[in-house]
Amino acid sequence: MAQFDLRGLPSVDRVLQQVASELPHWLVVQVIRREIQTLRAALQNGRQLDAEQLWEMLLAAVRGRLESLLGPGLREVINATGVVLHTNLGRAPLPAAACKAMAETAGYVNLELDLADGERSSRLNHVRELLCLLTGAEAALVVNNNAAAVLLVLSVLAAGKEVIVSRGQLVEIGGSFRLPDIMRAGGAQLVEVGTTNHTRPSDYEMAIGADTALLLRVHPSNFTITGYTGEVDLATLVGIGRRHGIPVMEDLGSGLMVDFPGADLTLPAAIAAGAAIVTASGDKMLGGPQAGLLLGRAELIEPLAKSPLFRAMRLDKTRLAALEATLRLYLEPETAWREIPALSMLARPPAELAKQARSLARRLKRHLDVPVTVCASRAPVGGGSLPGLELPTSLVALTVATAGQAQALVDALRVGNPPVLARARGEQVLFDIRTVISSQHTPLVAACRAALEVAQCDVS
Ligand SMILES: *Cc1c(COP(=O)(O)O)cnc(C)c1O
Repeated sequence: MAQFDLRGLPSVDRVLQQVASELPHWLVVQVIRREIQTLRAALQNGRQLDAEQLWEMLLAAVRGRLESLLGPGLREVINATGVVLHTNLGRAPLPAAACKAMAETAGYVNLELDLADGERSSRLNHVRELLCLLTGAEAALVVNNNAAAVLLVLSVLAAGKEVIVSRGQLVEIGGSFRLPDIMRAGGAQLVEVGTTNHTRPSDYEMAIGADTALLLRVHPSNFTITGYTGEVDLATLVGIGRRHGIPVMEDLGSGLMVDFPGADLTLPAAIAAGAAIVTASGDKMLGGPQAGLLLGRAELIEPLAKSPLFRAMRLDKTRLAALEATLRLYLEPETAWREIPALSMLARPPAELAKQARSLARRLKRHLDVPVTVCASRAPVGGGSLPGLELPTSLVALTVATAGQAQALVDALRVGNPPVLARARGEQVLFDIRTVISSQHTPLVAACRAALEVAQCDVS
C-alpha cells in the first residue's frame, strides 16, 4: 500500500469511545493524543500500515499506557536469581533499621540545624563521624553515588592535570560508568600505563611527571582477568606516590566494611594501606541506600565540599537517614552480619540454604503438577561486586517439556504478581534460594501456579 494519508489517523474522540479507564478524563485524552502523535511520526518516517493495523496498534498502545499509569511503576519483586547485588533489581535490599529511619525522617527534621544552639549545621555531620570512626579515615563526604564521587574528585583535584591509571583498570561498570568518559567529564587527562593484563610499579614511575595530579586504582568490580596477570597493589602504589608527593586514590566500588573470605579490599583496609582518597558505593557491599562515599585525608576531602558540583550531588534527608542507620549497624560487626540483608544473604550457610530449598520444594510439589527438584550448585553472587566469587547454594528446579516452555515460564513469572525473577536452563526453571526470604515462599508458590497457567506448560 502507498503512503498512508495522515489525515486518515483516528480522532481522539473515536479512541475515547473505545477505552474505558478509571483515570481522569484529561489524562486519558493526553495519553491518546501522545499515541496518535507517535503513530503519525512513524507514518511520516515511512512505516507502512493500513487503516485496520493502525487502529489496532493505536488501541493497544493507549490501553497499555493507561494500564501502566494505574499502578506504581516501581514494584516489589521476588529475586530468585541468587545475585545479591543485582543492579537491575535495585542492588542492596535495605536493612529494617534503614527503612524505619527513612519513614521517620520523611517530615520535618533537623537536617541542617543544630538543635542544641539553634545554629545552622551540616547535613553530613552524623554520617561523617560514623564513617571516620568505622574506617579510620581522617575525613569523609557523601554524595549521590560512586560515579559522582569519582567525578567530584577528578573535577576538583585533577582538572587540567594528568591522572595515571593502569590499562587493566580502564573499566566499564554497570553499562554507563566508563572511566575514560568520567575522566573527560572531569576535565582530567587520562594517562594509561602498563598493558591489559600486566602493569608494574615501574610503569607508574615512568609516567609520573610535573602534571600528575593523582595515581588512581579502580577496582574491577564486575570481571576478572585470569592467567598471566599482575596489578600493582595499593600499598606498593602508595609507596610510589609518597616518593613523588602524589596522592593515591582507590575507587573501591563495593564499599565492603567487614572482612569476607575471597572478597575485595575493605574500606578500613584501603585507608590503612595509605590511600589518600577512597571512593565506594553505598548500595553494594555496604548494604545501604544509593550513595557515593568519599573517605581520606582531610586536606584532600575538605576542598571537595566547597565545589558547586558537590552541592549538585548531595543526598536528601531520607537517604542520609538510611545511610546513618546502616552505618550504625556496623558498630557491632555481629549486628551488621545479622541485620544487613546484603551481608546476611552472602553469609547464609549451605545447610540452611538446602533446608529452605527443600521446604520451598515441598510446598511447590503440593500445589503444582510439574516435577520439582532441589539441587546443590555454585553461583556467582556479586552482580557488579565480588568478581569471580562463587558460593555454594541450593536451587529449586521446575522441569517442563521443552526449553521453549521453560523460557515462557520465566517470562510469565516476570510479568506476574508479584513479579518473580528466575532463570531458565534447558527444560528447567531455576530458583536460587539465597536471595529468597522465607516470607516470600507463599507468594512465590502462588506466582508459580499462575505463571504455569499463563505459559501453558506441560511435562514431557
Ligand atoms: C559500581 C562502581 C562504580 C559506580 O558506582 P555507582 O554507585 O553505581 O555510581 C564506580 N566504580 C567502581 C569500581 C564500581 O564498582
